[in-house]
Amino acid sequence: MKTRSLSVLLLASAAFALGVVVSGPSRDARAQEADAGAPPASGEAIASPPTTSDGIACNEQRPLDYLVRGNWVTKARMPREEIQRRRELAAQAVRFRTEHYGYFEGFGRPEWNAHTPMENAGNTRFMGLHLRVNRAIHPALACVEQAITAQCSATPYRAQRLSGIRDRNTYHNGEVSNHVYGIAIDVDPSVNTCCGCVPPWTDHPLCAQEVSSIFERMQMPECWVRQFERFGFYWLGRDSLQDTMHFEFLADPSQITPAAGTAPTRLAPLDQPWPTPVPARRAAAAAPRRPR
Ligand SMILES: [Zn+2]
Repeated sequence: MKTRSLSVLLLASAAFALGVVVSGPSRDARAQEADAGAPPASGEAIASPPTTSDGIACNEQRPLDYLVRGNWVTKARMPREEIQRRRELAAQAVRFRTEHYGYFEGFGRPEWNAHTPMENAGNTRFMGLHLRVNRAIHPALACVEQAITAQCSATPYRAQRLSGIRDRNTYHNGEVSNHVYGIAIDVDPSVNTCCGCVPPWTDHPLCAQEVSSIFERMQMPECWVRQFERFGFYWLGRDSLQDTMHFEFLADPSQITPAAGTAPTRLAPLDQPWPTPVPARRAAAAAPRRPR
């Protein structure tokens, strides 16, 4: 099918330019990989994908509401109906992640996906560092890397350590970390704090300081956070945990790059203020959880 093979070629060439291998966990994505290896039919022109003025050929996306932790997490003081509504959202979020990224035992149903997230994981590089995450989000990370490289030279930052997929969920409160699905990454946990978590994370000297901006409790620059947020990653610094090291891809993985022949989607800048830093003295008691 011409349209499809053109789209595969465009995706493959965009990914090549981004320095990543396009791959994904679904049967479709694997079929596309096989297609991408075939030479183009003779005489078939390969057009460059249209780009916008910043030259980044990726769709800007927002996280899907029902995947954002703050929208489904429950608290005992909530009305019963609200708790019920949120539990339904949480179940929807588990189903989406299972179908798109793999079945993780104990969450959702095995019939929703024949593979585990670990089977769908692959190695990639991000900002010069090795990272193992779900292959479905490799292109999204390449988009972020391009944007950081293009936009963040005024606030240079060199990441030293990344953490991606994990093979076990360390939570016992019914939540499942996006690290087990391979869609979360932590950037430099030792210098980007989680002051709403439990000790030893709250023992970080920066959590003991009164600050006026959450960015005073981390070394990663605001510009990095903005670029992640452009391409569908949710920054857990916005959550009550204030887990500033942590990003999770919560947008639609099928929309990371534009359809063949169409320009990438551009959205208005996110109109959401940065979170107020957790007060220094109450940081340890704020939310008894580990960084996610
Ligand atoms: Zn994390």
